[in-house]
Amino acid sequence: MKEKINLKGLWIDDLEKLLEELGERTYKANQLASWIYDKGSTNFSQMTDLSKSLREKLSSIACIDTIRLIKAQTSELDFSKKFLFELRDGERIEAVLMWEDDRTTICVSTQVGCPLGCAFCATGKMGFKRNLTPGEIVDQILALKDHRPTHVVLMGMGEPLLNYENTIKALKIVNSELGLSFAGKRITLSTVGIPNMIKKLADLTWRIRLAISLNAPNDQKRSQLMPINKKYPLNTLLEAVKYYAKKKKLRLTFEYVLIKDFNDSEEDALELSKLVRGIPCKINLIPYNSVPDLPFEKPSEEKITAFRDYLYPRCPTVTLRKSKGEDIQAACGQLCTSIKS
Ligand code: SF4
Repeated sequence: MKEKINLKGLWIDDLEKLLEELGERTYKANQLASWIYDKGSTNFSQMTDLSKSLREKLSSIACIDTIRLIKAQTSELDFSKKFLFELRDGERIEAVLMWEDDRTTICVSTQVGCPLGCAFCATGKMGFKRNLTPGEIVDQILALKDHRPTHVVLMGMGEPLLNYENTIKALKIVNSELGLSFAGKRITLSTVGIPNMIKKLADLTWRIRLAISLNAPNDQKRSQLMPINKKYPLNTLLEAVKYYAKKKKLRLTFEYVLIKDFNDSEEDALELSKLVRGIPCKINLIPYNSVPDLPFEKPSEEKITAFRDYLYPRCPTVTLRKSKGEDIQAACGQLCTSIKS
């Protein structure tokens, strides 16, 4: 028997094509999208504004698949939550919910594992299994919809720009009023920085926020932490970043994971401030979160504060991110589904 088409992850143009093949009017694609993404329906019989014959046709050839929640853990430190999901093929991914002031942010994955092997990251240690489909990316948000997330960050497992087409299709659904209705300013894509892909993203007609995982003030240190830097050194990365900022008229975020005795000195701060000079940006300092079996440590509180105070006002906006979910291995760079559930 032919496998049923999973409608989760299809967007208006795909749904229109499907309806056309079924001999139906294409305007019904909007209703179908609204049932799948806005109302979160998984059952065609609930779609009462579609004709009975269309619902029957859809039931015979299509399904609306969902990812399966396996485990949820809550941090005792800050109440952030980590969720482990199983995909149709048995692979597992994680998503995290974090609360700060009036924001509820969901951090979603875009790949199973990651091919980039950053030295400080638990996901990088897992290796790469496969890209997530648009439906699997969107479904992490749908599955946690009851928590009413206000912001979405693509900062979970994987590098979103290495799964570009699926990520963009998922973001169209997340962004659209027929989908999950997150305004572009509430969506942040976090990347190690793949220059040609950043430019491609800049050329889209809609805009989202961009965060670059920088983590070092020069090529020598960055290449030690992030092997991708050997392929795309800082000058090519920053050229693409400037292109994005100019084209989108947006301020970017540089994420800088502070690692003890590696990138936390006054000289590092000075070099960093010179590196980003002239780029409209915010620097987000993230004290390193320990990962079992990795040799890095978090700097002392004094060192972290001194780094921040040296950097500001040399850089106009510097924030120090409070780590979330460190005790449940849900903090930045800690996601790894090889942890037993
Ligand atoms: S930090 Fe991001 S890009 Fe680097 S290995 Fe981890 S998940 Fe991949």
